[in-house]
Amino acid sequence: MPLLYPNIVEATRHTVGSWLDKYISNEKAKLDIAAHVGYYGDDPYTLSMFYFGMAQAGFIGPGGHFVKGGSQQLSNHLAAYIEQQGGTVLLGKKAEKIITQNGRVTAVTFRDNFNDGIEPVTISCDNVVANCAIPLVPAMLEEPHATALQQQISSKTNSTSLLCLYLGFKTDVEKFGVKHYSNYILSDEVKTLKDVHPNQLDDWPKRSFIFVDYNKIDAELAPPPKSVGAICGVDHLKNWEGLSKEDYKAKKEEVAQILLDRLDKQFPGIRESVEYYEVATPKTNQRFTSNPSGSVYGYAQSKEQSGLKRFRNNFLIPNLYFASAWTFPGGGFNGAIMAGFLAALQMNRDKIWSACDEAKYVDQRIVPLLERKKIDDKTLELSFEKPAKFQHQKGQYAILNIMKPKITELDLPYRWLPVVSSPEEDSIRFRIELDGSSFSKSCELIDISEEAIIFGPMV
Ligand SMILES: Cc1cc2nc3c(=O)[nH]c(=O)nc-3n(C[C@H](O)[C@H](O)[C@H](O)COP(=O)(O)OP(=O)(O)OC[C@H]3O[C@@H](n4cnc5c(N)ncnc54)[C@H](O)[C@@H]3O)c2cc1C
Repeated sequence: MPLLYPNIVEATRHTVGSWLDKYISNEKAKLDIAAHVGYYGDDPYTLSMFYFGMAQAGFIGPGGHFVKGGSQQLSNHLAAYIEQQGGTVLLGKKAEKIITQNGRVTAVTFRDNFNDGIEPVTISCDNVVANCAIPLVPAMLEEPHATALQQQISSKTNSTSLLCLYLGFKTDVEKFGVKHYSNYILSDEVKTLKDVHPNQLDDWPKRSFIFVDYNKIDAELAPPPKSVGAICGVDHLKNWEGLSKEDYKAKKEEVAQILLDRLDKQFPGIRESVEYYEVATPKTNQRFTSNPSGSVYGYAQSKEQSGLKRFRNNFLIPNLYFASAWTFPGGGFNGAIMAGFLAALQMNRDKIWSACDEAKYVDQRIVPLLERKKIDDKTLELSFEKPAKFQHQKGQYAILNIMKPKITELDLPYRWLPVVSSPEEDSIRFRIELDGSSFSKSCELIDISEEAIIFGPMV
């Protein structure tokens, strides 16, 4: 049978590097074409040409897109949709066990992320979608499924991680010569495509990076005339392991200064405009997503692990679906959303649904406001009913999340705050700085009996 799409078949057999070497001799042209490699991996000579070509065609054709207000808005929208359909979204809970019987999933056990005093809860279910990293799933499964999955994944390699320096500028940075949204700052060390990977492992004074100026698009991230930017580069968890708390902090600061210097060299004067910066390392990625090695794209998109070679849906147990960056088609928002969509299509085909259970899980962390008191011009005190089993010690913190914030402009509806009430009191009190943020304004406008979620306690 003749091949209908020989170019696509050929791409599946190539890495980006081997494909470019075959068709292009000019090294500068190869580097230009492969400038976005860091969006998908760390080595053009292992990254699948098929995967890179598909993703890059999207950039060149329909173009890239940005979620106004940042990616949290996307999560908020999806969560709101689930709740509108009668579902419940539980944050700050960790799935611990996927329970099986006769080769099928029957229930999931989860516990509170912060409060060990809250007993684990087991909820029975018709289907489970594991949308965390696949390498985390064997530890949640019973035998023989745990070993079966472990055997299937043991030879897989994880994708790279990233380091980001988030920047708040006093002004628009166009005046410093920033002309584009995405600016790839290629290291002087990189002369040929073969230099790209070694350079990704080099020290920060030499490693290539991308600088993004969010003011070039209608990003809704900062109030004018301020603007937001980010420096992002490939990084690996091993560069940040084994450090004491102080050394970790010091290394973050050292890398921030190196990158700020290099940015200033590229766009003279820009450094003066920086009024806030914060570094997120592969360790940060791992901590907040639980993705092993802080991987941001799931399993690496090598030619051995991309396209049809990726895991799909319910390959292990009929009613256990997998949908994340670690499955087909892969990482990034598009990839993860598509994986969820494919899992939903498959679930619709499988139709493993029983009547909806009317009994709803009661989230004990949701509590009403009891009292709102202005302490002075700059401080507001809110007093909530104490969540059941919330036992804090003096000096501990909690996250206060307003459920229906009245003002959300350029802000998120939660803060990490010290608990100011004593452990013996029946209520839980927080002091909020009236700093003009949407969060503080929402706190001023919150009505008595209105509900908030309190996550904690934590140090
Ligand atoms: C700095 C950075 C910049 C990026 N930029 C872009 C970009 O511009 N465009 C793009 O398309 N992609 C980007 N990505 C990649 C993109 O964010 C990811 O590929 C995508 O979010 C993967 O989605 P996911 O749903 O598979 O997993 P994740 O977003 O990693 O979410 C996994 C979730 O599972 C939760 N979880 C894990 N274990 C458990 C458990 N046991 N119980 C309960 N919950 C659990 C975690 O807490 C986490 O919330 C970026 C990533 C990073 C880190």
